[in-house]
Amino acid sequence: MPSGAIQTTHAPAFDARFAVPLRGVAVDPEARCAHYDGPRDVIAIRFACCEVYYPCAQCHAETTDHVPARWPYARRHEPAVLCGACGGAMSAAAYLQADHTCPHCEAAFNPGCADHHDRYFAFVE
Ligand SMILES: [Zn+2]
Ligand SMILES: [Zn+2]
Ligand SMILES: [Zn+2]
Repeated sequence: MPSGAIQTTHAPAFDARFAVPLRGVAVDPEARCAHYDGPRDVIAIRFACCEVYYPCAQCHAETTDHVPARWPYARRHEPAVLCGACGGAMSAAAYLQADHTCPHCEAAFNPGCADHHDRYFAFVE
């Protein structure tokens, strides 16, 4: 598959390009998706309901048939965010403290995502 290709993956399949279980709609090799495809939209976030990473909540809604569960406070130090630029994982706590920059590769993350953190992390208002 050529780099830059996009791929849609529905449950129960996973997108084989990623080292972690991941699926979504029109996902590119850096984990952008049909809904968030800007240069800095390169993260995927793990959902507690199915332990799978998705580029966004809309991707979860469109590729599964169950109710999403946000990542819980008790698991804030477990890997829950994937950087699509380098493939590195970080905990929700590390992501929230990272100031919109990947701690592994220093890729810039979209600061606008902070407006939606409550969709993903049960402990963020
Ligand atoms: Zn789920
Ligand atoms: Zn999406
Ligand atoms: Zn990175």
